[in-house]
Amino acid sequence: MVNVLRRYPIALNIFWVFLVILVPTPLLLALFVSMGSIATDQRLLIAAGIIAYTWWLLAVFLSTRPKWLERAVGLPKMYLLHGCLGVIALVLAFLHEHYMVSMGQWIIVTGKLAWYLTLFGVLFAAFFMSGWIVDHFPTAANVKIRMQKVIKHQFSIWIHRLNIVAILLVWLHVELIGRVNGHLMFMVLFELYTFGVLGYYGWYKLDQKEGKMAGKVVKNRRLNAKTFQLTLEFQDNVPNLLAGDFLFFTFPTLSQETHPFSLTNKPSEKSHVVVLTIREVGDYTKGLSAVTVGSSFYAEGPFGQFSRIIESEPEKDLTLIGMGTGVAPLMSIAKRYHSRRNIHLIWTVKNKEDEFFRSELENLNDNRLKSFIQVGRVTTYELSQLLSEREIKENRFFVVGSSLAVLSVERSLKQIGVSKQNLSDERLTM
Ligand SMILES: Cc1cc2nc3c(=O)[nH]c(=O)nc-3n(C[C@H](O)[C@H](O)[C@H](O)COP(=O)(O)OP(=O)(O)OC[C@H]3O[C@@H](n4cnc5c(N)ncnc54)[C@H](O)[C@@H]3O)c2cc1C
Repeated sequence: MVNVLRRYPIALNIFWVFLVILVPTPLLLALFVSMGSIATDQRLLIAAGIIAYTWWLLAVFLSTRPKWLERAVGLPKMYLLHGCLGVIALVLAFLHEHYMVSMGQWIIVTGKLAWYLTLFGVLFAAFFMSGWIVDHFPTAANVKIRMQKVIKHQFSIWIHRLNIVAILLVWLHVELIGRVNGHLMFMVLFELYTFGVLGYYGWYKLDQKEGKMAGKVVKNRRLNAKTFQLTLEFQDNVPNLLAGDFLFFTFPTLSQETHPFSLTNKPSEKSHVVVLTIREVGDYTKGLSAVTVGSSFYAEGPFGQFSRIIESEPEKDLTLIGMGTGVAPLMSIAKRYHSRRNIHLIWTVKNKEDEFFRSELENLNDNRLKSFIQVGRVTTYELSQLLSEREIKENRFFVVGSSLAVLSVERSLKQIGVSKQNLSDERLTM
């Protein structure tokens, strides 16, 4: 099943449609069958409310990053569905809230509060937590960068969690509706859905904190004024790592925050070591640069699609384009695959001091791996000169960097003839 979803986009789309239709169906059936001929004129609005509620629950479930689904579709697609469910459910919730007739004061209050809270939550997340707005409007991106000096990512996460309060308000709203709470089968399912998902979410958060995959920092090495490299050794429950994977790390001596970082090294079955290359961009990464040897960490993951894509296309050579620290997972891939595939690695950096992997790359260069390093972004013209006709037509491209940089390079690649099907990316900003 996982392999089918990964290989065939059509199967994935059918799976999504099936999932979003399937999830609210038991609740709708239970209520409408039990209601008989009551409130037939309001069925569509009742259905809109129920569907919106179950989709929000599904979005909460997806936020727990279920491993089996991530391995099939990748985290970005899961987050995309999470976001789309939130937005479409908001439209349905609007219809329900706006046109449904209700008499009870508390029913109205809880419904309205939930609606305004989710409206705020969705708008906030669309701006601060997704690339939907900022990736397409440079002015919005600049505003976000300025606002992030005050509204940090971690604070955004807490704001986003207000959606759980909205869900509990909807739960209370339904509990108060006399013409609904008397339908036993519906109420049993409704409680199962609500507390099943919220219970699972709570368990996931606790489990994350306990840190099933834990270890110690064994080395902290500075690469330049802004970049450092951490070598970590897993001690308990060593993850099954693949080249280019990333994990969400927590360093409890620093804080309970969880941040994603990619593997720079070539993972090996015998070694429990991961090497991270980290750029200081904000408070957390600055603090992390001072983490001492012996400090503990725990991790969630691994996540990532790169190795799976490579393994599923044995005939394809690779073009890896990394911007800044975006080169980290590409180094891991280059080390892992350069004995088996032709690899062309293009790395762009802000200035000369950022070329910390130059000598390592030059040592790796052989007749299968060629690397090119440039200060400043590559233009469309430069890409057309750097890449051969065959590479453009046949290679698998992996592009990694900040969201805006990735989108810009991908636009250039498409302009010179790289097909969308051969493009995969990872964006280091969320
Ligand atoms: C899949 C993935 C792999 C990554 N791999 C690397 C890597 O190998 N090396 C590296 O230097 N950086 C990597 N990053 C980026 C790194 O996670 C952020 O730079 C770091 O979390 C910034 O935290 P901060 O508080 O120092 O900076 P802030 O100023 O708070 O944030 C800077 C930017 O990083 C993003 N960010 C902040 N916190 C988080 C978070 N908890 N989760 C997701 N994004 C966040 C935000 O988009 C923000 O705009 C990766 C990001 C992703 C999504």
